[in-house]
Amino acid sequence: MHQLWPPVSRLLASALREGTGYSEFFLAVARAYAGGRGLSSSIHHLIKLLERLQPTPELSLRSALLYVEKLGAGGYAPVVVDCLGLPELYWLYAKLREAQPRALAVYAYVNETGRTSGFLEEVRKASMLQVATTLGGQKVSSLDRILHEVMSKPAQLEELARKAHTHFGAYVEELARLLPTRAFIVSDHGYDFAREGDLWYLEHGREPNILSKLAPLVVVEKHYIY
Ligand SMILES: [Zn+2]
Repeated sequence: MHQLWPPVSRLLASALREGTGYSEFFLAVARAYAGGRGLSSSIHHLIKLLERLQPTPELSLRSALLYVEKLGAGGYAPVVVDCLGLPELYWLYAKLREAQPRALAVYAYVNETGRTSGFLEEVRKASMLQVATTLGGQKVSSLDRILHEVMSKPAQLEELARKAHTHFGAYVEELARLLPTRAFIVSDHGYDFAREGDLWYLEHGREPNILSKLAPLVVVEKHYIY
């Protein structure tokens, strides 16, 4: 039994049932490190789970690669995304659900390093582009670029959430809209919230390296358009 997938799926489904918006989810993740209530409390449980999770073969990136290779061979169009954080995973899930797909499944693997280099080392590829090319799909680097160029500057939490909504939120909506009928989105890592006094920023693969370790995989089959 995969110990990580059901909690992640349950978290996304329950947030959607509550009608949670992107910014609301983003803020709930920021507050979840310290516990919090409601959605933050559920995310806090996931954080605790990731902290104590022992590496298993099923949750390894090698196992993720084997699975996506099968999906690729089965006709699913691959999209390889550099950095898909938990809020963006949620928003992607919400937008895809809204489009009423025939099937939608979310999996999560563990990248202990929280970094692209760790992912590449484990799947034995030279670059994310090579991962995408080998699978016969496309590579998307925009989210990682937004993280480093826009979201890594310390700001008030509300300001950070506004920027996330403008940049991450809009990008994910476009990604969901343009996704081929049968496709999967796989990512190398997520990100964490970090603080400098009253100010917040995003980073991955550094302290706290917790949600950064989450390497999600979303498999979707949209309705065929006749
Ligand atoms: Zn990065």
